[in-house]
Order: sequence, then C-alpha cells, then structure tokens
Amino acid sequence: MQLVKLTPHIYYSEPERETDRPVLGYIAGEKRAVMVDAGNSGAHYEAYRELLRARRLPMPEVCVITHWHWDHTFGIHALEQECVAQVNTNRKLREMASWEWSDAAMKERLRQGIEIPYADTCIRAEYEDVTDIRVVPARTEMQERLDLDCGGITCRCMHLPSAHSEDSVVVYVQEEKILFIGDIYGDDWYQGKRDLDKTRALYQALNEIDFGLAVPGHSEPVSKEWLMGFLGQFIKDGQV
Ligand SMILES: [Zn+2]
Repeated sequence: MQLVKLTPHIYYSEPERETDRPVLGYIAGEKRAVMVDAGNSGAHYEAYRELLRARRLPMPEVCVITHWHWDHTFGIHALEQECVAQVNTNRKLREMASWEWSDAAMKERLRQGIEIPYADTCIRAEYEDVTDIRVVPARTEMQERLDLDCGGITCRCMHLPSAHSEDSVVVYVQEEKILFIGDIYGDDWYQGKRDLDKTRALYQALNEIDFGLAVPGHSEPVSKEWLMGFLGQFIKDGQV
C-alpha cells in the first residue's frame, strides 16, 4: 500500500484487492485536512496514518464516509478525528453494530443471504479473528450536503443517487477539480443487479459537476470522460 500524490493538496492510499481495502483519500488545505473513508479495520487506518507520518503530513481532523459497506466503515471505531456519514449510512451501521460478529453468525448471515460471499471472504482475509470486528456509527450525520472548509480548499460532501448504495456520498474539491466517488458507479452487489433509474440520475448529477478526475474506491483515478462513458452504456439512447 502506497500513498499517491494526485495534486499539491490531494493524496490517496492505494487499494488492496485480497482484503478489499479501499482507497483512503487525503485532502489538505492551509487550516486542516480531511480523510475520505475510514478503512476496513483499525489496522487499515493505522497503515494509512503511517503513510501520512512518513510524508510528514498533518493528521486529518475529519473523516467523511462514502457509503456503509464494511470495507469503507469498519475502521471508524479506531478514528481519533470527527467522522461524518450520511443519515442512511449511520442507520445501516447501527444495524450492523447490533449483529454478532463470530464465525457461526457470519456463516448464518451468508446462508440467509444477508451477507454476500465476496464480502465474507474479504472480511475473513482482513481479520484473523472475526470477533475483533467493531462496528460503530459516525458521530456526525449529514443529509444532502456539507461543506468542509480546509483553508483555501473546500470539501463539498454531496449525497448523490447511486445504483450501488442508496446512501452514497461524493467529496468534491472544486479548486483542484477532483471528485472522490467511493463505489458510486458500481452495481448493487447485495441485490445482484443495477437500477437503471438510479444510474440515469447519477449520470445527470455527475454531468453537472465540473471535475477532471474521479477517485474510485477500488481502482486508479479515472477521467470524467471515462466515467460518463461507463455510466452512459447502461442508459438507452434518448433516455438520458
Ligand atoms: Zn461498496
């Protein structure tokens, strides 16, 4: 896992496939820095902090969560800073916090179709002992929009429509034309399909945002052109 410098004010830690560790964003202004997503465990968060220390970068004061999926949120308990999540993200996190985290309970949720095989496999790859899992909600909730002033740099957090997850939040840095998008353009892995109305709504919302590069949760950054082309292929001609 490496820290990649994208612009003078924006970095991200690279994703890891085996344990499904997603990209963790870092946006720094003159006053403070913001983290995007909390990671899939306390160990993931600690690895991110180590990368920041090695570059002598100030620790983030706020963490913004892109959506409720385990790989983006199970590190929340380890955060020292403020954490912000959309209301529906927190609703889901409270539900998962009430679940039992044991080998047997995870197998039962898999059997009932509450959990998906890919997440189960990756959780077991990240956690040697699944009883170590701690799920907590974020301390601060947002609805549709929240602006975080970092000093010369503003993180605009926006709740957008998404087929991947209802609670999806993007973090837009207008000054550098960068958009952190989490997994917003993906399918809904829990439903095993893609909702085309939500895809169309996302296409329209993204089209109105002036960004050059989008930073997804599990890959290298992509251009706006690529992202619009990807979403456009699901939408029939004349229906956008
Ligand atoms: Zn996801």
